[in-house]
Amino acid sequence: MNRPVRVRFAPSPTGPLHIGGVRTALYNYLFARHNGGKMILRIEDTDSQRFVPGAEDYIIESLKWCGIEIDEGVGVGGPHAPYRQSERREIYLKYALQLVDAGWAYYAFDTPEELDAIRKEYEAEGKTFAYNFEVRGKLATSLALSADEVRTRIDRGDQWVIRFKMPENETVEMHDLIRGDVAVNTSTLDDKVLYKSADALPTYHLANIVDDRLMEVSHVIRGEEWLPSLPLHYLLYRAFGWTDVQPEFAHLPLLLKPTGGGKLSKRDGDKMGFPVFPLYWVSPTTGETAHGYREDGYFPEAFINMLALLGWNPGTEQEIFSMQELIDAFSLDRVSKSGARFQPDKAKWFNAQYMHRKSDAELAALYQPVLREHGIDVSDEIAGRVAGIMKERATFIGDFWDLTSFFFVAPTEYDEKQTKKYWKGQNPAILAELREVLAGIDDFSLENTERIVHAWIEEKGYGMGQVMNTLRLALVGAGKGPGMYDVTSFIGREECLRRIDALIANVKPLE
Ligand code: GLU
Repeated sequence: MNRPVRVRFAPSPTGPLHIGGVRTALYNYLFARHNGGKMILRIEDTDSQRFVPGAEDYIIESLKWCGIEIDEGVGVGGPHAPYRQSERREIYLKYALQLVDAGWAYYAFDTPEELDAIRKEYEAEGKTFAYNFEVRGKLATSLALSADEVRTRIDRGDQWVIRFKMPENETVEMHDLIRGDVAVNTSTLDDKVLYKSADALPTYHLANIVDDRLMEVSHVIRGEEWLPSLPLHYLLYRAFGWTDVQPEFAHLPLLLKPTGGGKLSKRDGDKMGFPVFPLYWVSPTTGETAHGYREDGYFPEAFINMLALLGWNPGTEQEIFSMQELIDAFSLDRVSKSGARFQPDKAKWFNAQYMHRKSDAELAALYQPVLREHGIDVSDEIAGRVAGIMKERATFIGDFWDLTSFFFVAPTEYDEKQTKKYWKGQNPAILAELREVLAGIDDFSLENTERIVHAWIEEKGYGMGQVMNTLRLALVGAGKGPGMYDVTSFIGREECLRRIDALIANVKPLE
């Protein structure tokens, strides 16, 4: 069936969006863009018990940060507005009643206490209670009670729910775009609640199917945890008489723990020190906080690139993809059936790759706020030059200060290991000689200084490593940093001399 591609990301605002949810949104987005379709954001907030304030804003901000654009939905509007299910509440009852009238659903009047009591009785006999074809004719349902009794109960305001009447012993044959054909016998399934009079709200299943239909969704791309609901969803489409416009389904593999076993959880992140959420989160109820990729210094492009490859592969060796390249390459038939193991080191690797690819100007813009925090006021040109020299060694912008502070401020202390190794023997005297050589160089450019110093070292027969490491101790204060002449040419002759003088004056040689 050829129809316009319309997909939706349909999160429930029950807390911060897990990176598995971001990946679901991303695959929906890539699929929509690849096929010239539309991406819808629908907020599924019919479960008032699990509603968490702030979660919806968090979802929207996360998608924005990731560059996942919404064409229709909450925050954007569109022809099927509203897109927040709690604002669509009056739509759903009609559909629930339609199923009752057609014999696909029934009223059930059991109170939670009654259901609890039945559950306990079953447990006492070592059995598990399921609300299904075996019991629905014996409990307080419109299948067991007379029509008059049902009417009376409803009219006097008893609470009721509408349950789906799952057919008995039927094989539902389904197709999933990732998993292929799947079949389930309905006798293994229970009669799910579709609507509750208590809060006049539908449950997930009813609202989800009705909205997918009304919003003309063509493909449902969602997490594997919804696969067990697929038979019910197929049957709902049949019950409503909508099979000809039923969407196609694709259930995405789980994101697994770095160790491989089980679903990736916040606790894995806490234990191993990586975020499982896109943005920093503070729970409005408990005050509990969670790390986010954004605040931990990841570039959104790197985060998205990493997520895209967790469960999908392009069929080539290419690893670095821009969003546009992902859109061009993405297809559901390259999504794997098996879970994708999350690798924290790989996330860092992606960030470093994007760091290396950034221009000096981009890096300057990111580094300037850090420099200002340290009281360093330099031009963008200088900030960019320093960042450009060091970007190959940085994973996060947060690494820069440690990697480059010596460009801006003279060392005030000296690394112990480097000092022990080089600040002894002839080296202090050689450094004093080198000071005079440097003092005599007028053109202090990188190339000229390098040429003159090297010629001098050769002429004197000194060890190259010995001289350069001693100079590094003076200029950087440690054994780290870029090529020595990157430093000399950047800080200039007078500052070089000052730093050499400071080391000679302040640190007593070891032997
Ligand atoms: N509200 C569901 C969730 O939070 C949506 C599942 C679906 O996409 O059908 O995951």
